[in-house]
Amino acid sequence: MYICLEGIDGSGKSTQLERLGKWLENCGFTVTRIREPTDSPVGRLIRVMLQDPKAQDEGFQRTLALLFAADRTLLMDKIHAEEEMKRIVISDRSFYSSLAYQNGEEWIAQINQHALEPDLVILLDLEVGIAISRCDGNDSFEDADFLESVRQRYLKLAQQHGFMVVNANNGVNKVQDDIKRIVAPKLGM
Ligand code: C5P
Repeated sequence: MYICLEGIDGSGKSTQLERLGKWLENCGFTVTRIREPTDSPVGRLIRVMLQDPKAQDEGFQRTLALLFAADRTLLMDKIHAEEEMKRIVISDRSFYSSLAYQNGEEWIAQINQHALEPDLVILLDLEVGIAISRCDGNDSFEDADFLESVRQRYLKLAQQHGFMVVNANNGVNKVQDDIKRIVAPKLGM
């Protein structure tokens, strides 16, 4: 089972992923946590590039999209192996992040053809004003107009691909409960 949390910067994915992991482990499951960009050399390069003031320029964006796809391709064998061992893989982002953040849907889909489809995608939907107030301002993506366009693309993807949408404007405990309610039946709990 490959479960993924998606959402704009500041939507609480990493906090909720950690809580979800602990809860699943307490319920007796073996869990593998992953995040994109990963800690591979490609993932580390992405994190450096994201801090460049030019990161939203078109050429830069295309390069980032290719790097994200490469980083993800490295990750897919790992996910396969973990699933074979009956572990639950929970992930902070998936290839849907690339569809939400980088332009050019068809091309993004092409370069991500090796990406596995998550069994469950949970979108943490957050108002951009709250997101900005939570962010540390280190990434060039933390701009209100840009994040609003990403949020809208996520909501459209949610409709098209059947993501479960959680209201991330709520407090962490409520968001956590909502996520548990979605995950539990998928695992026969
Ligand atoms: O989720 P996290 O904050 O660790 O993501 C790192 C950065 O990568 C974020 O600023 C996010 O906006 C950006 N990102 C991106 N394209 C993706 C995935 C993440 O620009 N496909």
